[in-house]
Amino acid sequence: MKQTSTRPNIRHLSLSDLQEYVVRAGQPAYRARQLYGWLWQKHALGFEEMSDLPKVFREKLMADFSFPVAKLELLQQSRDGTVKCLFRLSDGKAVEGVLIPAGERLTACVSSQAGCSLGCTFCATGHLGLQRNLMMDEIFDQVAFLNALAMQQAGRRLTNIVFMGMGEPLLNYKQVMQAIEKITDPHALAFSPRRITVSTAGISKMIYRLADDGVRFNLAISLHAATDEKRSQIMPINQSNHLSSLMEALAYFYQLTRNEISIEYILLNHFNDSLDDAKALVKIYRKLPFKVVNLIEYNPVPSSPFSRADSSTTDRFIAYLQQQRVNVRLRRSRGADIDAACGQLANVVHADAALPTSHADVH
Ligand code: SF4
Repeated sequence: MKQTSTRPNIRHLSLSDLQEYVVRAGQPAYRARQLYGWLWQKHALGFEEMSDLPKVFREKLMADFSFPVAKLELLQQSRDGTVKCLFRLSDGKAVEGVLIPAGERLTACVSSQAGCSLGCTFCATGHLGLQRNLMMDEIFDQVAFLNALAMQQAGRRLTNIVFMGMGEPLLNYKQVMQAIEKITDPHALAFSPRRITVSTAGISKMIYRLADDGVRFNLAISLHAATDEKRSQIMPINQSNHLSSLMEALAYFYQLTRNEISIEYILLNHFNDSLDDAKALVKIYRKLPFKVVNLIEYNPVPSSPFSRADSSTTDRFIAYLQQQRVNVRLRRSRGADIDAACGQLANVVHADAALPTSHADVH
């Protein structure tokens, strides 16, 4: 159900906006910090929760501002412990975020757009097309909820946050940057930027901008094929952002920030899994001080012509990279049974894995 409000969204105000508002409302100046803490640190879901603000002030806030929240509508738990969350946005659109426990790591994978415009042929999200960009508070909500879920399920905070869910983060640049500002703000969620990885399909122009903006988080490049000829077949963005321009942008990023850059590479059966493909990948790897090549097991999606590389081909591919002294890791598919794995996010619900939940249960 579409909700509209003419009142401004309280979470689109900066701290200094809140400070001005508080003074105009005749409240003591320290109320702005209290309010900010409720919004960004305690992740309040409504003004009524802000118990240390006077009732009359809460009523004024309710009259002056809207407070839309991405509502956690459904949890689906995989046999391997991965949990996929469906978030309903205030206009009725849905996005997904995933909690991935793996050893010591508790990783949140979050979405930056509803759908995606880039149309990578192996990806379920790409087949949805772009519905809209997420607002910074809608991105923040996913992280805050997944962090609360981590606390509830494992008794500790997230260790890593990756922007690898639905959408291309660099095509929603401003909102993603603002969300990360709040996720890392010591007066909000206080995560280290070194624990955050933004993954891009390779928008060269925006990689230059990341560098110029001096960001402190890590970057992952979704490579998936190491020649222009092959990459353009599966990632249409490569037609306007060739590998040479992408490498130049990444070199600039590394030169300015020294932040880690990793390569993501989904192994697709008989498409990019041959020894020649591995050789092309080594050439790319040697161009820059990449931290790691993450090889990803593919989970076929109905709309895609591809299947997973078989295990002996995968082993041979890894062995070649290791022999060439590439720092390579195989990322085993996680959450495939609930379509939570890489490239599978398309708001598909598996009734047998759905846990009954209410928004407040993991808050
Ligand atoms: S792989 Fe990423 S960039 Fe490509 S269509 Fe899917 S969500 Fe978009």
